[in-house]
Amino acid sequence: MEQIADGVHRLGRKHHNFYLVVEGGRATVVDAGGSRELPLLEKGLSRLGLGLDSVEALLLTHAHSDHIGFARLVQKRGVSVKSHEAEAAFAVDSAAGSQIGMLEVPLWKPRVILFMVEMVRAGAHRAYRLPSIETVADGERLELPGRPQVVATPGHTAGHASYWFEGSRVLCSGDALVTDGVIAGGLGPQVMADVFHLDPTRARESLDRLAGIDADVLLPGHGDPWRGSMAEAVRRARVEV
Ligand SMILES: [Zn+2]
Ligand SMILES: [Zn+2]
Repeated sequence: MEQIADGVHRLGRKHHNFYLVVEGGRATVVDAGGSRELPLLEKGLSRLGLGLDSVEALLLTHAHSDHIGFARLVQKRGVSVKSHEAEAAFAVDSAAGSQIGMLEVPLWKPRVILFMVEMVRAGAHRAYRLPSIETVADGERLELPGRPQVVATPGHTAGHASYWFEGSRVLCSGDALVTDGVIAGGLGPQVMADVFHLDPTRARESLDRLAGIDADVLLPGHGDPWRGSMAEAVRRARVEV
């Protein structure tokens, strides 16, 4: 577990992340890694003297298998799980959303192989859908630890959302804006390759939403945290495109 800012912690592995935001002994979790990664969250919580009963909600940026991971397990144990309203159908039924067309992914590339090995170890090669999910709307400021605001960033999936923690000045951008694009070699703010997006044009349009956010640290779904203005992060991502 890596501390990013006061009360903000990064969990996960080298190539994929989820986040823990703690305020006053209560926690909000953003994304749920792979299905085998609940122990990482529990270990992180216990290092802070907390347990799963300290988690008020798990917010999903989207419902791909490397983000919905252990959501079903924590939901069973009483944690409220939420996604943007346009992602809800996909969170409960894989047929209702966009699975990535793996045949189009260049699986022969060494960095893609390493990524896939990590995904299997994390249990992210299989998506466990939820029996139900609560929904949040664009612009909503949630009464949860860290007071996150929902920023709809569709395109990667139909209902992808980012979460802005204004008090900590961090933005959890999921797969809308990453710093490790898996296929491309470079690191730093970038948009994932088109093959990963349901609607690549919409995914690029969503960058405008992120550029306007007054955060200091970008916390992506894949890659290291990036410090700087979101306008600069988006500018760099657009150059990459
Ligand atoms: Zn994704
Ligand atoms: Zn992802």
